Amino acid sequence: MDEVKDKCGVIGIYDGKDNFDIARLLYMGLFSLQHRGQESCGIAVNANNEILSHRDMGLVSKVFDDNILSMLKGRHGIGHVRYSTCGASCKDNAQPIIVNYKDGMMAIAHNGNLVNANELRAKMADNGEVFLADSDTELILKRFVYYIAADHSIEKAVEHTMKEITGSYSIVISMPGKLVGFRDPHGIRPMIIGKYKNTYILASESCALDTIGAEIIRDVVPGEIIIIDDDGLHSYQTKTNGCSALCVFEFVYFARPDSYIDGANVYAARHRAGRQLAIEHPVQADLVTAVPDSALAAALGFSYQSGIPFGHGLMRSRYVGRTFIQPTQEMRDSAVKLKFAAIRHEIEGKRIVLVDDSIVRGTTTRLIVQALKNAGAKEVHMRISSPPVKYPCVYGIDIATSKQLIASKLSVEEIQRMIGADSLGYLSIEGLNQIPENVNLGLCTACFNGKYCTDED
Ligand code: SF4
Repeated sequence: MDEVKDKCGVIGIYDGKDNFDIARLLYMGLFSLQHRGQESCGIAVNANNEILSHRDMGLVSKVFDDNILSMLKGRHGIGHVRYSTCGASCKDNAQPIIVNYKDGMMAIAHNGNLVNANELRAKMADNGEVFLADSDTELILKRFVYYIAADHSIEKAVEHTMKEITGSYSIVISMPGKLVGFRDPHGIRPMIIGKYKNTYILASESCALDTIGAEIIRDVVPGEIIIIDDDGLHSYQTKTNGCSALCVFEFVYFARPDSYIDGANVYAARHRAGRQLAIEHPVQADLVTAVPDSALAAALGFSYQSGIPFGHGLMRSRYVGRTFIQPTQEMRDSAVKLKFAAIRHEIEGKRIVLVDDSIVRGTTTRLIVQALKNAGAKEVHMRISSPPVKYPCVYGIDIATSKQLIASKLSVEEIQRMIGADSLGYLSIEGLNQIPENVNLGLCTACFNGKYCTDED
């Protein structure tokens, strides 16, 4: 499908002598993070300095059952849901990745993407390193283990590793007696700290904390290293250039609406995007509707601001996932029809405002506009709650290459004609920057303006 694809989600839990069933808490947390990756998932727990783990291809509910969780007994552990942006989609690349090192075993899980992975892999291979798979996470793990073996403290080993890697990363590591978490110096990918009784949790999004019943403590700040052990939580701040760049697409599309990221609620940000869109691109119409589900909040915001009533004009099948088989190129259109259906009763004879969060290649949008018109819409006015996506993402989001991005080739008027809409309006970059209220960090908008924060590192 013509979509921006999610990336990964991570979680780490350290039991502060509450005697919780850590594997079950990790499972619940991963369940809440499922929207961040549906290809594979895994849990690794530390039991008396040995790692017990299970990982496989598929959804959390398919990969784990009662028996498997019962075998994963430990004091602390980590979990991961994966969408592959670096390395093949296969069981070998499923995370957590586990290694033996001089003090025992350790497991790592990573959300993000290294910009310098190829260069770093080549350098390591020249030094005789061999690799189990082709994901960038293995590179991070091996550099960390190298510095630990050279007798550096954990925080120093992380700091040295961070100096060698460029890109986006929120990482959790389970090692003997410690749960370690760290976030890249720009804070591109999110990570939050929670607490449930005496037990600490690190997670990609606050929705995982809510599911477990934990309270939010705070977000991990860019460049921060967190180490949790029996003495509690310890924080170490590495040097950054002060330029934070949290991925704005977290607010536009990726994150769950109930999550708070770096101080801002995701649902509120999407609603605000819709309100701003109505101010920037007003239109006379009878009904506001959304491409479900991620554009719903923005459509409600548009409706609120414009006074045009909101209605459900499209339904989305819950059963067309990534594994849907598209037998031939000619049947691509059918895939969109299977995924989205227009609700004729709501839209017939009306002027429709159709709100979506982004346009990538434009093919799906064209088919959805067509479906609304076939169902009797008099006019379809397309409104997009983010600016035109013109540049690829190098930080772990599978958007498409520049050549495939319609906005990198066509003007707004040309895109409007291509998708068959009666008008088309995108949120401005200025408007986008205002949508997460009270956010603590600067925002990455590189896929809209080509300004990549790591270019200056
Ligand atoms: S380039 Fe776009 S998708 Fe990638 S991190 Fe930046 S804002 Fe997010």
